[in-house]
Amino acid sequence: MEQRQLQINVNPQTLKNIACKECECKLFEQKFIIKRVPKFLAGTPVDAILHIQVWVCSNCKEILPDCLPAIKEPDPADFGPPSKPLSELRGELNK
Ligand SMILES: [Zn+2]
Repeated sequence: MEQRQLQINVNPQTLKNIACKECECKLFEQKFIIKRVPKFLAGTPVDAILHIQVWVCSNCKEILPDCLPAIKEPDPADFGPPSKPLSELRGELNK
């Protein structure tokens, strides 16, 4: 997720606070979701670690949904089609 410092010429006091949808709390804490990236995907000798910064409600610890689009379970389509049909691969394993 790209984090950029916004250059805005507005008075922050005129902006709407973001509130937790669960408990209406308006204070949030920075937390990290840590993912293990298998070495075959990371292209490194060992598994890599990927961290995703999220905001959680200070009160109920619910993750602020606005920061969630960056969190996505891997889609098998992202890895391209298998080089061989699965049935064929299984056959090779049984040899
Ligand atoms: Zn909350």
